[in-house]
Formats: sequence, structure tokens, C-alpha cells
Amino acid sequence: MYFTPIRMEERLSHLQQFSGKTVTVVGGGVAGMSAACALAEAGLRVQLAERRGYLGGRASSYLHPGVDEVIDNCQHVLFGCCTNLTGFYRRIGVADRIHWTSEMTMIEPGGRRSSLGPSALGPFTLPAPLHSAPSFLSAKAFTFADKLALGRAFAALMRPVQGEAGNESLGAWLRRKRQTEGALNRFWRLVIASALNADLDSIALSYAAKVIRELFMNSAEAGSMGMSTVPLSELYAGAADYLKDRGSSVLFNASVESAVWDEETSQWALATRNGALASEFLVLALPFEAMAKLLPHMPAADGADALAAKLEQHEHWPICSVHLWFDREIHWLYNKGRLQPWREVKGSYVELVVSASREFAQLTREQAIAQAVRELAEFFPAVPTAKLEKAALVKEMGATFGVPPGIDASRPTSVSPWANCFLAGDWTATGWPSTMESAARSGHLAAEAICKSIGEPRAILAPDLKPKGLMRLISF
Ligand SMILES: Cc1cc2nc3c(=O)[nH]c(=O)nc-3n(C[C@H](O)[C@H](O)[C@H](O)COP(=O)(O)OP(=O)(O)OC[C@H]3O[C@@H](n4cnc5c(N)ncnc54)[C@H](O)[C@@H]3O)c2cc1C
Repeated sequence: MYFTPIRMEERLSHLQQFSGKTVTVVGGGVAGMSAACALAEAGLRVQLAERRGYLGGRASSYLHPGVDEVIDNCQHVLFGCCTNLTGFYRRIGVADRIHWTSEMTMIEPGGRRSSLGPSALGPFTLPAPLHSAPSFLSAKAFTFADKLALGRAFAALMRPVQGEAGNESLGAWLRRKRQTEGALNRFWRLVIASALNADLDSIALSYAAKVIRELFMNSAEAGSMGMSTVPLSELYAGAADYLKDRGSSVLFNASVESAVWDEETSQWALATRNGALASEFLVLALPFEAMAKLLPHMPAADGADALAAKLEQHEHWPICSVHLWFDREIHWLYNKGRLQPWREVKGSYVELVVSASREFAQLTREQAIAQAVRELAEFFPAVPTAKLEKAALVKEMGATFGVPPGIDASRPTSVSPWANCFLAGDWTATGWPSTMESAARSGHLAAEAICKSIGEPRAILAPDLKPKGLMRLISF
């Protein structure tokens, strides 16, 4: 157990704070958990209904029967700029389970490495956005021409990209900015298309600009990278304890199949496979596909057709991950076993993530694992001599929603077409791409909307980190 124990007096004082209002949050992903915990803290009595038998949604872990190991459905990373996600972790007492690093290492076939990250120029630390310039300028992965091209593109993104300009595709913009093949392959495809999980031509410039500014320009803190040192579902089990300690509850295996507004009781009545639920307020914290499935089983309302039309505009992109256990340590290869010492791995456990992997996802398990090992051997000469002890392939076909030009028009706010019902989920209007931070923001926005509607407004959305250095002067 990693959570701060709550003393009996504290527990009683939580219970005494109840506003008496009840809310059902549907969906136990990051969006639903962050909404539920913020509402419980605000004194509402919450029931969190989750279809599966564990929390975490698309960011979860499970015992893989093929390898008899607990694995994450995929490596999930967060960044310092994820203020709502880190705020949620602090609320549920698991912030100390995140390992932070500022350095990103690029490895080329043959093993040559370049480190990118905040670095000093002799005795001087340069102000943002130049804090990583010394390591970038000395990175061997990029030629001089690549560096000039990337510098040109970064300079153009120092100001926020707003309005119609943000609706150009990243691919078209990069062609206009005359990016070299090296810059395209080793930065824009490797880092940005992976972070946004789509092809360059399917990404709106506004989202790419946001990622670049947050991860590389605003400050060293905003760009530092975090990873959980425990399996994701264990991390998120903290939310269940937090809710229970505040007189709220989590209902597992409770797939909500319809929702009806009961005029007599002024409550939402929900049908689940596990029985009926009722509450005055409802938060639907579902992925867009599940929301589209539930919509025909919701009451008719003005705006429901418009919501259905918005849902149809969304498209998901797959991410595959290959988990490999070798019988020995492989020099320079990132070893997940070291981040998670409780695993007691004797050799090395590595995870390869293939983003925007529509082609890779078509491969069979054997083909995918063989390709992963073959490509790994190009980067790490020790791989062919190591024995592969076991391997797993995880295909997440609906991993993230895409952020193509124009998508903002199809991202609804937390206000739904129905009274006392609010929307959350990473795909709603948060301004962020498909990430845990977007999910946490959406949950906090929905919780704020409920508190406002019961006449007890409170600020729940965490503010963004302030840009530092020169970025303070040019960020407006
Ligand atoms: C392979 C992969 C890699 C990723 N990598 C990263 C990363 O590195 N960093 C990052 O920030 N993000 C990453 N993401 C994205 C991130 O996981 C999601 O953006 C985020 O978890 C979405 O949270 P959510 O709560 O909005 O939705 P979900 O996590 O999908 O949660 C929705 C929940 O609703 C439940 N549900 C569905 N229907 C019903 C119903 N009818 N009744 C009750 N419950 C229902 C589901 O079971 C689920 O638990 C990745 C995602 C995947 C799949």
C-alpha cells in the first residue's frame, strides 16, 4: 500500500462535509477517476461505475496469462506540464510513485547515442526556450542542415499558433518550412508524430505547436518526463481508496447500458448489467466510441443529434507494444526492470512502443515479435547473442483519438444536452491531445461544472505552468 493513511477523525470530518448531493460517474478511466475524486473532496457522495473489474481504462495493467507477468497495456509517460494529472496523483496520494527524468536519449542503428534535454553552456544555464540548445547543437543524430531546419521551425512556433493558422496540417506546414529528411525522420516522425499518435498529414498544426512549446520551449520543468514505478492499475487503485475514505464507492463490472431522467424523483436512473443505480447528477466519462453506443439509450433532448454528429467525426489510432524478456542485460538498452525493481528481473525486460501503428497492427504475434527483435538488433549489437526468454504483444486498436485539422469543432464542452448530466473524457474540449492530462482536465472541468450548478462553485482545474525565461516575454 502506498497511500497516506487517513486517521479516524479526519475520516469523520470528510463525511460531515457532505452536501447531500449524489452523483454517478460512469467510466473508471483517468477522466472518471479525477472527476469522482474532485467531487468527493467537494463533499458530494459519488458512485463510480466501471465496466471492467479494475480502474485505469486505457491506462491500466493486468496479469498477462501468456508470460505470467503484470504488464501495463502500454508504457505511459507524462510530463511536468501535465498539471491536472499530477494534481490528481497528489490528491490520491501516489505522486511519489512517479519517476522523473529530464534527459531523452536518441539511439541510431549501430548504437550511436545523442542526449537531448536541459544542459549548460560551460558555466551558464541558458533561459527558456534555449535551455536545451547546447545538447541539441551537439546531438550527433542531426546534421548541420537538420539543425538549421529544426531551428527555423522552432523559431516559428515560439508564439502560440492560433485561429485558422492552427488548422493547417503539420505535414503541409513542415513542407513549407523546408524540413530536411533527417529532421522529418528523427524529430517530427519519431517524437511529434509518436506523441500525437498519427501521421504528420493527419495532425493539426495547433496540436503539434502545443506539444513543442510545452515539451521543449516553455521551461525545463514543463518538459521533464515522468513514468510510473508501479503497474498502472496499482497506481490508480489509490483513487478507489480515496473515494471509499470519503463515503463514496466504486462499482466494478457495472457496464451502464441506459440512462433515464426520472421526473418523479428528479434523479437519473441507470441500468447496468449488475443492477440499477440512481443519483441526482451524472458524469459520462466515456471514450467517444462508448459514448456513441450509449447515446441511443439516453432520453431525447435538444442537442443530442448535434452531439451524435460530433461523435461521428472522431477517429481512433492504434498503438502496439512489444514486451521482451532477455536472459541478460543489454548495454544501453532501456531496461524497464530497473525502473520497477520489485520485478526482480534477472536479465532485462524491455518494452517497445509502435505508435500510429496501423500497418504493424496487421502483423501476427510471431511476425510482430520477430520484427521487433530484428530491429532491436540493428541498434544493440548484443541482442542477437541474448536469449529471448518470453515475449508478449499488446495491440490497442482504439488507443487514442486523432487531432486532424478542424477537430476542435467536434470536441464538446462538459455541458451535455441533458439537465444534471455532464461530459468528460480525453476527447472532450480540453485543448489537449489524447493524453492522461486531457482526461484529468476533462474530469476536473466536469467536477467544476457540477459544483457550480449546485451553487458551490470552486476552482478545481489546475492552472498551467507559467512559461519561463524569454518565453515569458513572447507567450501571449
Ligand atoms: C497503448 C496506449 C498508449 C498510450 N500512451 C500514453 C502516454 O504515454 N501518455 C499519455 O498521457 N497518454 C497515453 N495514452 C492515452 C491515455 O491512455 C488516454 O488518453 C487516457 O487514459 C484516456 O482516459 P479516459 O478516462 O478519457 O478514457 P478511458 O481510459 O478509455 O476510460 C473510460 C472508461 O470507461 C469504461 N467504460 C466504457 N463503457 C462503459 C460503460 N458503458 N459503463 C461503464 N464504464 C464504461 C472503460 O472500461 C474505461 O475504463 C495511451 C493510450 C494507449 C491505449
